[in-house]
Amino acid sequence: MDLIIRNANLPDGRSAMDVGILDGRIVAIEHALPLQAHTEIKANGNLVSPPFVDAHFHMDATLSYGLPRVNQSGTLLEGIALWGELKPTLTQDAIVERALQYCDWAVARGLLAIRSHVDICDDRLLAVEALLQVKQQVAAYIDLQLVAFPQDGLLRSASAFANLKRAIAMGIDVVGGIPHFERSMADGAESVRLLCEFAAEKGLQVDMHCDESDDPMSRHIETLAYHSHRLGMQGRVTGSHLTSMHSMDNYYVSKLLPLMREAGVAAIANPLINITLQGRHDSYPKRRGMTRVPELMAAGIDVAFGQDCAMDPWYSLGSADMLEVAHMGLHVAQMTGQEAMQACFHAVTEAPAKIMGLQGYGLQVGCHADLLILDAGNPVEALRLRAARLCVIRRGKVLSQMPAAQAQLHISGRPAQLNFRLV
Ligand SMILES: [Zn+2]
Repeated sequence: MDLIIRNANLPDGRSAMDVGILDGRIVAIEHALPLQAHTEIKANGNLVSPPFVDAHFHMDATLSYGLPRVNQSGTLLEGIALWGELKPTLTQDAIVERALQYCDWAVARGLLAIRSHVDICDDRLLAVEALLQVKQQVAAYIDLQLVAFPQDGLLRSASAFANLKRAIAMGIDVVGGIPHFERSMADGAESVRLLCEFAAEKGLQVDMHCDESDDPMSRHIETLAYHSHRLGMQGRVTGSHLTSMHSMDNYYVSKLLPLMREAGVAAIANPLINITLQGRHDSYPKRRGMTRVPELMAAGIDVAFGQDCAMDPWYSLGSADMLEVAHMGLHVAQMTGQEAMQACFHAVTEAPAKIMGLQGYGLQVGCHADLLILDAGNPVEALRLRAARLCVIRRGKVLSQMPAAQAQLHISGRPAQLNFRLV
């Protein structure tokens, strides 16, 4: 054995388990593993989980907050306009540098797989070149999957489709889209058809920004499900955001969810961003804007929570912390039951891994030895505390470590040390 992690709690509720690792793979998970290893790490009853996965991010824009100015209205549309101002001034080196800095944050947070959209509407395709370079540079520690994203609209921007095809030819993995930003509902639907047919022909996955608005009549998700079903693309298509579903008529949603399920379309909600950008035209009551997460899950649809933005034209906060993302999702969706909270943890681990099609992901014998030791006893406690990532392991090697949260109290008569956990 190369490495044994002793006395781990697992996300499925098993406790006092040892995890044995050889040649970068998990080879044993059992009580009191009767073997010795080159290195042994004591988990001390802490939670050992597979790494966090973020299936929706924008790495070409990240850490550009304030360039060239901040988003005053806080709306999606001002964010897109601001990104349009920033784009001509971008350099490949600056994009690479910011992306690499974000990847360092990600590793320290135990986030070891990211699907990033890349804007392909700049004819120079600088961001595509930059993120393909980053993908190679971080490959040893992060699985970075890239989506060709026509930010300015596939049909609305004259060169977008040609650029998208160039980006795919250069090595971008997934076909993106933004139907709600096209000039008309009809153009939006046409963009979905064109993109799905292109992806089907190339054997690629699809992940579109879809219905990212408060408009209850924005129904491109129906078109996306229709083409996924028609083209036999079940399991390869994802609708990101789907915020209009928050505002849709309940009867219509009762028809829509089974169609999504039949078409094998997954959903990604981005709680930090959805609750920040949506409802901006409301007075009160003010809509939350996040899609119907528990209802989608109950319908048997794969649902993940994404970070989406970190310090960019759309969002001034964010730090690659998927526990923060899940914590917000839990609150916005009111998923406070025990099973519902477990599902929120699943939505930043197993669910996005499945959506991305990651091979060898998980906490089973035979999977990659990609593991976290969290400063928490179980997934719910990890969410409550946004637990420190005590140890981040990839292919059996320790990538990052941090100390447990601990306060030294100076209150007489009370315990001197506090770790925020029930004893
Ligand atoms: Zn996005």
